[in-house]
Amino acid sequence: MAKPKVAFYWNASCGGCEEAIVDLAEDILKVVDAVEIVLWPVAMDFKRSDVEALKDGEIAVTFMNGAVRTSEQEDWSRLLRRKSGLIVAFGSCAHIGGIPGLANFSDRAGVFQTAYHDVPSMEGGNTVEPRLMTKMPEGDLELPEIWDTVHALDQVIDVDYYLPGCAPPPDLIMEAVGAILKGELPPKGSVLAPEKSLCDTCGRNDSKPDKIELSELKRPHQTFMDPEKCFLAEGVLCMGPATRSGCGERCINANMPCRGCFGPTDQVRDQGAKFLSALASIVDIKDPEEMERLKDSIPDPTGVSYMYSLATSFLTRRQLSK
Ligand code: SF4
Ligand code: SF4
Repeated sequence: MAKPKVAFYWNASCGGCEEAIVDLAEDILKVVDAVEIVLWPVAMDFKRSDVEALKDGEIAVTFMNGAVRTSEQEDWSRLLRRKSGLIVAFGSCAHIGGIPGLANFSDRAGVFQTAYHDVPSMEGGNTVEPRLMTKMPEGDLELPEIWDTVHALDQVIDVDYYLPGCAPPPDLIMEAVGAILKGELPPKGSVLAPEKSLCDTCGRNDSKPDKIELSELKRPHQTFMDPEKCFLAEGVLCMGPATRSGCGERCINANMPCRGCFGPTDQVRDQGAKFLSALASIVDIKDPEEMERLKDSIPDPTGVSYMYSLATSFLTRRQLSK
């Protein structure tokens, strides 16, 4: 019997999700044995024409990581949607916009200004920005267009399932692959991870006092972090109350607070708003001046609360100048 065809593709991402596949270690041999890989740019030399030559729907499942922020990424996303029976948004950036989504605090002009003019590492006098077309003696060179707005994958194409995480952990990947191969998938649109919040599964949850009352916030480098105690109860921002579980508490176990890469649970529409609401409910300050001092002690409150989810939040992006 013919093996199901599988594709892996990457849009705007750091490459960590590709590493997650390699992190399957010997389990990757089981995957390779069970499927026929027809596209995997980071590891194998397939061309776009190979994908175009496939029949529509011929790829059983495509795992796509990365946000979508260029014309080329939109084009590939639409092509793979057409050629695939199932699309799995793989990792935080495809799922909820991820770290690239933070560019929505600015726009293309602002991003270019920072990247090609303002950063101290720019060579003095070198102010060349990427252009769509550059004429060279050998011919015209084209670059994809970068958009003002960074999108999660389902803001561009229809997505069947979501594998969360920066990057998704190996056990969740293998569970998803197993469910796909056995045809035992949950309803379309499901996030393939537990529905509980991270606080529900966190080993430090029991250390929380009955009522948390915060009057000051500390950043991780400003305090000794007791490896047994809840970060939030100690005044260190931790996104656990607003984040889906399933990562195995990777950061918590490394004595670092959660930054929210698994996105919200199904009950929560806006992860950042949920976190700010949870934080507001445990702050015990009445004096407005004290409240200002507390607010100022978080250098980038929106960036912290929406670190992974700005592109899919109610905020979506900063309003563009006309
Ligand atoms: S706030 Fe963070 S440290 Fe505290 S219980 Fe939740 S996930 Fe664990
Ligand atoms: S602890 Fe939070 S930021 Fe860290 S891997 Fe888990 S969900 Fe992601």
